[in-house]
Amino acid sequence: MSVALPPLREVIQRYGLNASKALGQNFLFDSQLLGRIARVPGNLNGAEVFEVGPGPGGLTRALLEGGAQVTAVERDRRCIPALAELGEAFPGKLHVIEGDALEVDAPALFEGKPHVVANLPYNVGTALLVGWLSTQWEPWWASLTLMFQKEVAERIVAAPDTDAYGRLAVLSQWRSQARIAMTVHRSAFTPPPKVMSAVVHIVPAEAPAGVRFPVLEAITAAAFGQRRKMLRQSLKPVVGALDAMAALGIESSRRAETLSVDEFVSLARVLSQSPAL
Ligand code: SAM
Repeated sequence: MSVALPPLREVIQRYGLNASKALGQNFLFDSQLLGRIARVPGNLNGAEVFEVGPGPGGLTRALLEGGAQVTAVERDRRCIPALAELGEAFPGKLHVIEGDALEVDAPALFEGKPHVVANLPYNVGTALLVGWLSTQWEPWWASLTLMFQKEVAERIVAAPDTDAYGRLAVLSQWRSQARIAMTVHRSAFTPPPKVMSAVVHIVPAEAPAGVRFPVLEAITAAAFGQRRKMLRQSLKPVVGALDAMAALGIESSRRAETLSVDEFVSLARVLSQSPAL
């Protein structure tokens, strides 16, 4: 669908949307780039999308042009009239909620499973990601397409035996597939942030059987809380962990970052049988 819309820079000027540092506002104006990001989840024609932080609506526009039905949560009330104008160009396709995405009950907004798409300040993005990954499985979302600082994106997709590998990698990979879909140069943003960005794409997979999530969380927190120590030291406070490692043939002299996601899952499966955890 092609609708004549004013250039985004004009929208910014008309509605006085000078970027607020406090709200982590770094806007994207390049329609080709926005189109590429909007295509990361796949064909969105007729699909429900939950967009967090639409701002002046550049990415929202690209999602609507891809045929999506968009529900968006934006905290900055200055952006609401600009988004209303965008909604008029796509009648019945855009629903905007003014509010804090950290407080909105997102699953309640959808009948089906939406694709989540967001270009957010990184601290809010990480908090939301952890919440979305910690939800009941299967999750209420079909996929996550999220812009992060490149360094955070690398932690999400990290492999063992790298500095980036830690709790975020295990949490992101134990029952989902996570990949970096594209990197975005800092100069693409207005104003440009200090660091490079990357878009992460996460799709849910089947959860490994017999693993209680709080147990996996407790193990990864203890192991990576002292990542330079041997597991026999870092996992000492986790009741039964040393016996479980012995049963699984995992050397207790290893350190957290050498354990694969599957090994963390195996450990969590054994300990999930223990009522003490
Ligand atoms: N999506 C737009 C783009 O790509 O140009 C704006 C991206 S800007 C990096 C982040 C947006 O998230 C801003 O519009 C900001 O007001 C909004 N935002 C920040 N914290 C938020 C929160 N807790 N809940 C909802 N929106 C938030």
